[in-house]
Amino acid sequence: GEALAVSARVAPLGSRLVLLLVEDLTEARRIEAVRRDFVANVSHELKTPVGALSLLSEAVMDASDDPEAVERFAGRMQIEATRLTNLVQELIDLSRVQNDDPLEDAEPVRVDELVAEAIDRCRHAAGTKEITMAAGGTADLRVWGHRGQLAAALGNLVENAVNYSPARTRVGIAARRVAQPGGDMIEIAVTDQGIGISDKDKERIFERFYRVDPARSRATGGTGLGLAIVKHVAASHSGEVTVWSAEGQGSTFTLRLPEAGAARDRTHQMSDRD
Ligand code: ADP
Repeated sequence: GEALAVSARVAPLGSRLVLLLVEDLTEARRIEAVRRDFVANVSHELKTPVGALSLLSEAVMDASDDPEAVERFAGRMQIEATRLTNLVQELIDLSRVQNDDPLEDAEPVRVDELVAEAIDRCRHAAGTKEITMAAGGTADLRVWGHRGQLAAALGNLVENAVNYSPARTRVGIAARRVAQPGGDMIEIAVTDQGIGISDKDKERIFERFYRVDPARSRATGGTGLGLAIVKHVAASHSGEVTVWSAEGQGSTFTLRLPEAGAARDRTHQMSDRD
């Protein structure tokens, strides 16, 4: 009787083990497929500007007796070269945030400095579109993390807000502390009055190379990697990035990060328990 009861208990356990193994294999296959897709995507993204550069250099040679045409082609070569440089830089940034543990170099980082840096980075693009940028609530707030990675993440969000907004609109950056039992968090919200994002696209914009409108993204120098970088940085800092958006009205991207003091308190609490 007892043996039967035991085997009855073991049998479902066995099938659960098999199920786990199958799930593991499926997951391994999924990861492999994502890796293959990524390589294919990178190759495609590199081929586009390289192909254009090759065609344009031929055009320059053919137009050697037409200085105006040469100048026009050279200008377009410059745009393609910039695109290539941006793409390579973003690939380096992405691989860095995927492979490094940012918390090894973590320090308290002032939110007002991160915000000022992000605004600085977009000043030119915002200026040409007469977009007003305003920041508030950042005084005295500090987050815990890798300064360079956090700057890259916030910079990407502000850059997108400017890129996907029409002229003479406003981009706002607001920060606040949010009380939380495990340690307070800092929320940095970037709000624009731009084109917005549909519910269907909202689920996908954080994927590498996903763009709602590839032509528009390319026209603004986008690589489709920015939000993937932001998502990685948020996750590796025990934070998160979320989006609210209404099509045609605008978007708010919110970066949630551990507060500097709170992170240290958490460590103290843990060593107190020991
Ligand atoms: P990109 O280099 O194309 O900007 P991202 O990864 O930063 O790549 O963003 C992915 C896509 O999400 C963009 O191509 C764009 O379609 C959409 N997107 C990102 N931010 C915004 C925003 N603030 N407003 C509207 N659409 C946005």
